[in-house]
Amino acid sequence: HVICHEIPKLELHAHLNGSLTETCLKKLKCLDSSIKGYQRMTEVLNKSQRSLSECFEVFKIAHNATNNVEAVFAATQSVISDFHMDHVVYLELRTTPRAGQDMSKEDYIAAVVTAILANPLEIIVKLILSIDRRNSIEQSLDSLNVILKMKLKYPDVIVGIDFSGNPAEGEFNEDLFKKAREGGLKTSIHCGEIRNDEEIEKILKFGPDRLGHATFLHPEYEGNPNNWKLYLEKKIPVECCLTSNVICGTTKSYPEHHIREWIRNSLPHCICTDDKGVFGTSLTKEYTLVAEHHGLKPKDLWQTTCNSVDYIFASDDIKTRLKVKLMNWYNKHE
Ligand code: 5GP
Repeated sequence: HVICHEIPKLELHAHLNGSLTETCLKKLKCLDSSIKGYQRMTEVLNKSQRSLSECFEVFKIAHNATNNVEAVFAATQSVISDFHMDHVVYLELRTTPRAGQDMSKEDYIAAVVTAILANPLEIIVKLILSIDRRNSIEQSLDSLNVILKMKLKYPDVIVGIDFSGNPAEGEFNEDLFKKAREGGLKTSIHCGEIRNDEEIEKILKFGPDRLGHATFLHPEYEGNPNNWKLYLEKKIPVECCLTSNVICGTTKSYPEHHIREWIRNSLPHCICTDDKGVFGTSLTKEYTLVAEHHGLKPKDLWQTTCNSVDYIFASDDIKTRLKVKLMNWYNKHE
């Protein structure tokens, strides 16, 4: 556990509003009744398995607390600080631009970017903007246009686009993400969180830069075997979030988590938290779970982190700096 904490880590799959802790919500002066609701829901979630849809109910509470630009700014600062304390040296935070009280989607993005630019801590932070699956194509296009406009304004901070939200709703629209890609955005797509072989195939054929979860995509999954073959041709890095998958019940247990196939076959993957607030986790805890249930030694965990550097959405210069940092750490702790 100590080593898992101390390794300089990279977090590549963290949703801003799902990462908020109770302490942060209190600081945001979220109504007492909302905090109690949040506490109750996160407690219940962490004690037992819940359906994915029930998990999604919790996000609404955090959304109520971040419905103005000041709160969005403070929430971003708080999450960056949490990850920094967990020895995360590179963070790709993702969030869904949302209009709220006197706040447009553009204001929302500007508030997150401003907090990232004002960050004084020793942690590099980049931003991925999410498109919610529930949206109609018109709403998604509107979000994409705002995102592309803001990408031109803050090219060094906004690096990618994500497709997330309740997987039981909506569908992947290739044209939308082609347009995003043409606009210079890297793509990270939530894929196969539930059984949906058709959509998994569509996403794999599109070929995103990274995949989120990829739960129903592995050699032992009894669905369409061609998807696994297609995956092996593409070998797209997968963002693995163990606690989230186990609590949401899409994975039966930690030892049975599909990360084992990625480890066993040396396939590209990284270890991530998803929603550390909602699921009561941290990147240190996720590393510890992988060590405990999948037999990774400290050196393997360090190597997994080093490999993850190649999957980030930042410049080669940043990749080199991170590799040097990791190498220095290794030389000191060998
Ligand atoms: P936000 O984008 O508002 O900062 O973070 C919360 C949102 O992220 C949720 O409302 C949901 O759309 C998305 N999200 C968080 N965790 C998950 C997950 O495990 N799977 C999917 N598909 N979406 C998620």
